[in-house]
Amino acid sequence: SVPEIGSPARTKAILNRYHLVAKKSLGQNFLSDLNILRNIVAAGDVTEHDNVIEIGPGIGALTEQIAKRAHHVVAFEIDENLLPVLDETLMDYDNVTVINQDILKANLPEVVKHDFEPGHPLKLIANLPYYITTPILMGVLQSQVDFDTIVVMMQAEVADRLVAEPGTKAYGSLSVVMQYRAHVEVAFAVPRTAFIPQPNVDSAIIRLTRRDPLPVKPYEDQALFKFVKGCFAHRRKSLWNNLQGIFGKQPEVRERIESVLNQTGISRQLRPERLTLINFIELTNAFHNEGL
Ligand code: SAM
Repeated sequence: SVPEIGSPARTKAILNRYHLVAKKSLGQNFLSDLNILRNIVAAGDVTEHDNVIEIGPGIGALTEQIAKRAHHVVAFEIDENLLPVLDETLMDYDNVTVINQDILKANLPEVVKHDFEPGHPLKLIANLPYYITTPILMGVLQSQVDFDTIVVMMQAEVADRLVAEPGTKAYGSLSVVMQYRAHVEVAFAVPRTAFIPQPNVDSAIIRLTRRDPLPVKPYEDQALFKFVKGCFAHRRKSLWNNLQGIFGKQPEVRERIESVLNQTGISRQLRPERLTLINFIELTNAFHNEGL
């Protein structure tokens, strides 16, 4: 029988047969290591009850491993040249639907409603195109689609930022926003040598699950995100400096900033990277209440 798609021999044979040259502009690096592919699906704890969305199936290596375990897979692939390839490589799986669309333009709630049978847990499993990791994750987490688990591969450096804790170099607005949305953890690391062609960075698998409810909520999500971004505009400067950058330096504004800092008990000398998610939420709400 034919080896699985993600074996190096089969990957090379498919690339040769279709004269495929990986498109750098689309982040095409094909994962060619069956153990890693199976471990990605295992990290999502995929069972025959699950509906799974995949982003960027490529030649179908990860899709095949998901299809073997899941109820149904819907995969978004932007590159139309890969459609005939996927038709052939995934021929034996009747639980796969490929949609030729840019994931950033997809209407996920519509797709979930129309392409999946209701009543199954929904998961997202993907080896992401790295040039759009952040917009994809932001879009997915804001889409109102209720994913049970998200398991995605990304470049290791971005993964480090997603899981970073306050006070570390990697901690920034991306860490805060993602950790607000979900419980984020690194599942495992993936060396660049596992891909054909090899990318020039190492990768990591991130798992996102529902987070514990927070003790305080921002009055509005977008206000929190904007405030966090503003606070990290100048990482090396104090919170006091950054707050004046956000709200202004007028004496009257400074007084109100001081008042908010006093109310929340947060020192103006701190660097933004010292603030916890809860600090950011409390400050967002306090500035709102102060009319700033
Ligand atoms: N899943 C395959 C694997 O693991 O070997 C391929 C992963 S490759 C890193 C990323 C895939 O995403 C490519 O197939 C690429 O064509 C596709 N892609 C890139 N941009 C996309 C977009 N905006 N929407 C959907 N797919 C995209």
